[in-house]
Amino acid sequence: MFNRDNNSRGGGFAPRQMVKGNWKCSDCGKEITELPFEPAPDRPIYCRDCWSKNRPPRQNRY
Ligand SMILES: [Zn+2]
Repeated sequence: MFNRDNNSRGGGFAPRQMVKGNWKCSDCGKEITELPFEPAPDRPIYCRDCWSKNRPPRQNRY
């Protein structure tokens, strides 16, 4: 009856699923072999460096 997906079982944090592939960073051109998410084909892909670079640490939007 309470047979869910074992989601809320005390495992701590969910394991991050890395997506393996072969992309190039749209910014610096560095090779990317894995991403923490499934990349959209029509979107630029950034390596870790550029990703954090393009992401302002503080966003005062709201
Ligand atoms: Zn890059």
